[in-house]
Formats: sequence, structure tokens, C-alpha cells
Amino acid sequence: MSATTDRPCPQCGRQAAPRRENRDAPFCSGRCRDIDLGKWFGEKYVISGPALDSPPMDPGSREDDD
Ligand SMILES: [Zn+2]
Repeated sequence: MSATTDRPCPQCGRQAAPRRENRDAPFCSGRCRDIDLGKWFGEKYVISGPALDSPPMDPGSREDDD
């Protein structure tokens, strides 16, 4: 029982298909991938601190001057 191709999804723990069959590997689905990615960025953002760097993006800073 040493299936190195089948690994559990890091996010939900379900069995995820290998990368060649699964574009979202090592996650079982794109949803789990997005969740894990968001969590990772969130942790990184928290670790970075509040005022060490300027925010990478400001989605609401652009004003439409009509
Ligand atoms: Zn999953």
C-alpha cells in the first residue's frame, strides 16, 4: 500500500487525483485549491504585519470621473 500517486487533498483530506488527471492537484478540486490559496495568502498577509509594506492592490481607489 504505497500509492504515491494518490494523495489526500491538503484542504479537505479527500483523495485527490494525480496532476496528470487533475488540473487542480494536489487538491481534489478547484474549490479546495482556492480555499487553501486564499488561506495561505491570508496568513502571509497577517504575518507580514499591518504597515510593513504598502498594500499590493487597492481595488476601490479608482474613481470614475464622469
Ligand atoms: Zn479537497
